[in-house]
Amino acid sequence: MTVELRRTSGPDDTERIASALAMRVAPGTVITLEGDLGAGKTCFVRGLARGLGADPSTVSSPTFVIEHRHPCDVGTLVHIDAYRIRSADDLASIGWDELLAAGDAVVAVEWPSRIAPALPAVRIDVRIRHAGEDLREIEIEWVRPVDASQRCKGCGATIAAGAGAQFCSERCRMADLGRWFRGDYAIGRPIEEDDLHGDLRRAPGGDR
Ligand code: ADP
Ligand code: MG
Repeated sequence: MTVELRRTSGPDDTERIASALAMRVAPGTVITLEGDLGAGKTCFVRGLARGLGADPSTVSSPTFVIEHRHPCDVGTLVHIDAYRIRSADDLASIGWDELLAAGDAVVAVEWPSRIAPALPAVRIDVRIRHAGEDLREIEIEWVRPVDASQRCKGCGATIAAGAGAQFCSERCRMADLGRWFRGDYAIGRPIEEDDLHGDLRRAPGGDR
């Protein structure tokens, strides 16, 4: 596990950090972005777009559509706002599994805690914190399974070394996702404005 720490003093600075990261990632990489509203998640994705050769001016918060796709040098930058994803069906509707399986896109996910069980075990987690006015602290964690041989989070079976998966089968993954969306892990009420200001970050899955 590698963690890089950065401090930025404005949006341009954050974009620059993100562009530099984009140049180090291969298609198929999932980059998650955690942070309060206004932390700079979308700004970071704008930087990723620039680094990948996409048009940064087309990057905006995908709040009303769940995802935006931007053609770029390596294929596609997919920008997902998981905030509105409420069920496995919602995830399926954006072709999440196909997206991961194809491995031809860089995928940036805002509010990743909403879909924690569906995230691949190998990914990059970016956490952005306000540090006063235009200052932000940015943590970039390259996440990999600690052990080459992992255990399925559903049934405990051993997963092949290097597979990078959290589950041994589609069945175990869907069962876990079902539990997640039924409310065993998630908050069981409509999302309210207050959730945007902190509560949601402490919801299950947001407490890594
Ligand atoms: P989020 O997607 O996390 O809700 P946005 O990227 O949409 O946040 O907005 C971040 C806001 O904070 C923008 O208005 C941006 O200009 C401002 N800002 C100020 N300083 C920074 C910084 N260092 N990094 C990123 N954004 C910053
Ligand atoms: Mg945003």
